Amino acid sequence: METESIILRINDYAESDKIVTFFSPHIGRATAIAKGAKRSKKRFVNKLEPFTHLRINCRPPKKGSLFFLSNADLENAFLTLRHHYQRYTTAAFISELVLLFTRDHDCEPRLFELLRWAYYSLDRGRSSSTTLAIFMIKLLQYTGYQPELSRCAKCKTIVYPKQRYYFLPESGLTCNSCRSGEDTTGYHFTIAIRTIRLLHTTQRMSISHLNRLHLPKSSSMEAVFALSRFCRNILQQDLHALEQVRTASNPFPMTA
Ligand SMILES: [Zn+2]
Repeated sequence: METESIILRINDYAESDKIVTFFSPHIGRATAIAKGAKRSKKRFVNKLEPFTHLRINCRPPKKGSLFFLSNADLENAFLTLRHHYQRYTTAAFISELVLLFTRDHDCEPRLFELLRWAYYSLDRGRSSSTTLAIFMIKLLQYTGYQPELSRCAKCKTIVYPKQRYYFLPESGLTCNSCRSGEDTTGYHFTIAIRTIRLLHTTQRMSISHLNRLHLPKSSSMEAVFALSRFCRNILQQDLHALEQVRTASNPFPMTA
């Protein structure tokens, strides 16, 4: 079958092969073996690299879960993502999130579109924190973890400007009254009304309109910080690439 795909991860295998994990609109996340890829001068050269957007030919597995990758044509190498440190760390974090939030062969064409949008956006020089904030809120939406952003997750009161809000890793958007009742750690971060509204707008937008969004740097960084903790709580594990994103974007207030 022929399909578009974006490479999420790539490993050498045996003497001359490569194992490629990709995301495609037709198969979802899948892993394939590219036989002879390390020696191939024609079929795969400069194509099987991280973040690359390809059109591939692959055969489904007869047994097991490994596809057989027979051919690849380059749609976009996204070279700046590999050569620009901040874009690289952001793209790597995005790959990690897709790997962690998806399962093999779960088809979600919107997620492919979102991933492609994010890499084009970074490649064209859009701010890494803005791209990442938009990517994360849409990823949560498309994978079934969309946080409530129009009202407090606990008392269900509609968001209003005079209230103070927190974005808690466990429950999402929480008003000050609800938070104070249960806060045992005393170490929560507020989230600005403006950031809440921008994220809520992003949730309601289709991917084709995402380029119109303007997020001030303070809002996008605040959103990345809050959503990272939210994601980490869903996944119940650390996000390895997050630390590099933080270092590359210094000062990036994501220390929790
Ligand atoms: Zn509340």
